[in-house]
Amino acid sequence: DVRVRFCPSPTGTPHVGMVRTCLFNYAYARHVGGTFVFRIEDTDAARDSVESFDQIIESLKWLGLDWDEGVGIGGPHGPYRQSERSDIYQDVAAKLLAGGYAYESFSTPEEVEARHKAKGEDPKLGYDGYDRDLSEDQKAAFRAEGRKPVLRMRMPDADVTFDDLVRGEITFKVGSVPDYVIVRANGDPLYTLTNPVDDAMMEITHVLRGEDLLSSTPRQVVLYAALEELGVASFTPRFGHLPYVMGEGNKKLSKRDPKSNLLIHRENGMVPEGLLNYLGLLGWSIAADRDVFSKEEMIEAFDIEDVNPNPARFDEKKCIAINADHIRLLDEDDFRGRLVPYLHREGVVSASTYSDLPEGERAILDAAAPLAQTRMQLLGEAPDLMRFLFIGAEGIEYNEKAISKLRDTAPTVLEAAAEVFEGLQEFDAEHVKAALDAKLVEEMGIKPRFAFGPLFVAMTGTNVSLPVVDSIAILGKDEAIKRIRQLQP
Ligand code: GLU
Repeated sequence: DVRVRFCPSPTGTPHVGMVRTCLFNYAYARHVGGTFVFRIEDTDAARDSVESFDQIIESLKWLGLDWDEGVGIGGPHGPYRQSERSDIYQDVAAKLLAGGYAYESFSTPEEVEARHKAKGEDPKLGYDGYDRDLSEDQKAAFRAEGRKPVLRMRMPDADVTFDDLVRGEITFKVGSVPDYVIVRANGDPLYTLTNPVDDAMMEITHVLRGEDLLSSTPRQVVLYAALEELGVASFTPRFGHLPYVMGEGNKKLSKRDPKSNLLIHRENGMVPEGLLNYLGLLGWSIAADRDVFSKEEMIEAFDIEDVNPNPARFDEKKCIAINADHIRLLDEDDFRGRLVPYLHREGVVSASTYSDLPEGERAILDAAAPLAQTRMQLLGEAPDLMRFLFIGAEGIEYNEKAISKLRDTAPTVLEAAAEVFEGLQEFDAEHVKAALDAKLVEEMGIKPRFAFGPLFVAMTGTNVSLPVVDSIAILGKDEAIKRIRQLQP
């Protein structure tokens, strides 16, 4: 049975690389009917934060990436937070030491460097294996000096090879990976130990993670072999390293770049469907001629073997364009409901959920939402696009550029429009349009662009917004006339 995991460290705001990793694990688990495990790697008390933990959970919920086993829901291999698993790591570390797979190491970094220098080697070569075979007397002598040892894994005197699911066979030459620390001198276990121990005990079959972790894989492969011999692991998982996510100028997208920040994407008004779709394209594609798809379609089609090892570029324009496609795919009710928090945030409506809106605001939103749905890329555009419908004439701010572009005919057009409105009994979009066409275009011979342009400015204060005739109908006769009079007393 396939078992995959997502195991972030709660050390900052969730970022797109992290979520991409989560998505690919999730899609693979769902594709093969396997189990998706969610674990938290919080062994670094100095960097971990509750805020980050909460944000990760909230993000997964927002995105609808649900897990089968793990944090919050438990399961047969719990606990699923590493901070609650110290006993396990201590126990395994003791076994590794007793079995000779790991050893106590007393060397300071300065001593290691000095030894390299003395041999005419690069001082930064890394740990040199000096403490591998210390005698009990030597260890006692170090202890007597007040030194406390770290625990190091003994790397084999052989190449380490594994078959990466994305990159094929990868070999780390003998001697290229120094013996590495698994437990600090103060007894704290490191990621190098906790991560594979948990993967082993949680019976993870496939480790899909970012390319930045590729260098830790040979170490972990060696640790797995030891865990198997010790009976802690029953097999070594397969590894697949997902390509880097690049930002501007062929540089890795920084975790601190706002484009990387999941919460900012949500604030801007990415919908989860759009964001997941776009992240799905970072190293994978559903088909050569198609890039818009749902989570379900991704699950249906996803296979690790199809992941592309080349770096993927985070293209914000494309991300937003994909979001626009998903906005258009939402049901009318669903879309309307999702607009409300964004409108509320900017004070356009008075409640943050649709059901809490007063009747009047709800009616405006019902009428305007279908017009907005095809005209926005991000939900965060809603306030600017729709505010003019929710406020009175006195609240309109006139865009100078829009005003300056009005032609000489504008006053005449506006005067005629006001008259047309006065005479209308039925004030829906159809009647308004027919009456304006008859008067301004046919009778007065004004080109539609110059007939409707001034009305647009009068109603909205700008020249980019929702269609003017529909807007006039939503505003109603009195308000529409008031706005004309306000622009042209
Ligand atoms: N906690 C690790 C990280 O956030 C996970 C590494 C892994 O997937 O093995 O980088």
